[in-house]
Amino acid sequence: MQVENNKVVSFYYQLRECLGGEEAREIENNRKGDPLAYLHGYRNILLGLETELTGKGVGDTISVTLRPEEAYGLRNEDAVSRVPLKRIRQKGKLKPGMAVQIQTSNGFQDAMVVKVGRFNVDVDNNHPLAGKTLMFDIEITDVREATEEELAHGHAHGVGGHHH
Ligand code: ZN
Repeated sequence: MQVENNKVVSFYYQLRECLGGEEAREIENNRKGDPLAYLHGYRNILLGLETELTGKGVGDTISVTLRPEEAYGLRNEDAVSRVPLKRIRQKGKLKPGMAVQIQTSNGFQDAMVVKVGRFNVDVDNNHPLAGKTLMFDIEITDVREATEEELAHGHAHGVGGHHH
């Protein structure tokens, strides 16, 4: 079965950040756990990955390099802001580089701590992978028909997928 719209695809991946030339640094991989499962054609993963996976099958391996514009966007240096400590949802001591959630009028927002003051914290609202060229090495482990429930929800259920 080939990867196409309305199929649930499972894969192992290694994600590396390109540091220029041949240099790369691993950011994460899921080899030690279950493959990731997603519903193809619903933008549940980066569009550039969906495009490369289309038409492939179980056992195929692909390597994709995505520029920041094709992945999580360029870094916006204006996205650093100062927020009161009480709006940060985090147990324990805050440290630079730590991922936190900030309470906003639109709910909780992910951010990274840049600097910790006595009453305020400077946070970076850029996506942690913004500005990075990303290299994905993917091995497809399963392709199956989506269930009607998965199609209605717009995401994959079960192992490696969405849990309610
Ligand atoms: Zn669901």
